[in-house]
Amino acid sequence: MARVYNFAAGPAMLPLEVLEEAQKSLTDYNGTGMSVMEFTHRGKNYEFIHNECIALIRELMGVSDEYEVLLLQGGASMQFDAVPLNLLTTGKADYVVTGNFAQKAYKEAKKYGEINLAGSSEDKNFTYIPKCKFSDDADYVHITSNNTIFGLQWNEFPDTKAPLVCDMSSDIMSREIDVNKFGVIYAGAQKNLGPAGLTVVIVRKDLLGKHLPICPTMLRYDIHAKNNSLYNTPPTFAIYMTMLNLRYIKKQGGIKAIEQINREKANLLYDFIDNSDFYSNNVEKKNRSIMNIPFITPNPDLDAACVKGAEARGLVSLKGHRLVGGLRASIYNAMPIEGVKALVDYLKEFERENK
Ligand SMILES: *Cc1c(COP(=O)(O)O)cnc(C)c1O
Repeated sequence: MARVYNFAAGPAMLPLEVLEEAQKSLTDYNGTGMSVMEFTHRGKNYEFIHNECIALIRELMGVSDEYEVLLLQGGASMQFDAVPLNLLTTGKADYVVTGNFAQKAYKEAKKYGEINLAGSSEDKNFTYIPKCKFSDDADYVHITSNNTIFGLQWNEFPDTKAPLVCDMSSDIMSREIDVNKFGVIYAGAQKNLGPAGLTVVIVRKDLLGKHLPICPTMLRYDIHAKNNSLYNTPPTFAIYMTMLNLRYIKKQGGIKAIEQINREKANLLYDFIDNSDFYSNNVEKKNRSIMNIPFITPNPDLDAACVKGAEARGLVSLKGHRLVGGLRASIYNAMPIEGVKALVDYLKEFERENK
């Protein structure tokens, strides 16, 4: 069976080259007679993989020595708690709610302190980035750079007095960003970086050690930093796969080159949708996501037929999230432009046949 173009929102597709590389060494890594899955995390063989993964994140994103790069577990969702538990020293923080995950982060933080809603676009179903009003005495400001479900993305990050904390789960390493603008960046790996199971946290060193007394040891950034993310058993195989994928991204020319392709892919699909009177996307143009593109046909029956017809052609996982309906094409780093072209060709044909 041939590989399909997988438009899933996450876990998402990985480059074939990366999967084949892992396959080659699946039962015997570098003549060790063992799989990476079978290594001890305390040995040299694993240590090289672990440290190369961290070094590649640093290199590709331009992370300075003022930051720690942590390889953790629990997903971005665990960070919804870890962030307030590590940073809420005076008990006040600002949150901007621009989607479902941003809302979850906000609700979680409210358990620990006095959380100010600095901006929200819930009134228009998260189709725009709101004007924000930040407080003077917040410990940090939390935003979500890309709204995976509604397809809304910050294209410029706000200037804030307090450290900016960002959930970058669905657009990390998809475009160039200045890490120095942030206090904390966190992301589940399963969209742009690798398989599920790994959560990357980049934290500025001056923010370490400010955790609340009730913060569980396993959620403390300073503990993980002090132990080079080896305080307990890390998700070794997920880290290995991510490392291979980061090598691949580097070989493609790094994030600058990847961003160019990502923009080309997104423009191709948006231009087609905008020029059609059959398909539509209602997110404010200047904040449309280049990663997740939701769209609808004239009615829900046609939406369903469109998803089904696509599947028959090897264009899979295009069903929109239940909160939005319609279709959604997630076109992360690993989706080649050929996949987007194949999708556009199919959508044209579906329109012709069903208009
Ligand atoms: C997928 C996603 C999450 C949830 O990630 P988990 O790893 O499943 O916890 C959180 N935030 C954003 C922006 C996401 O896209």
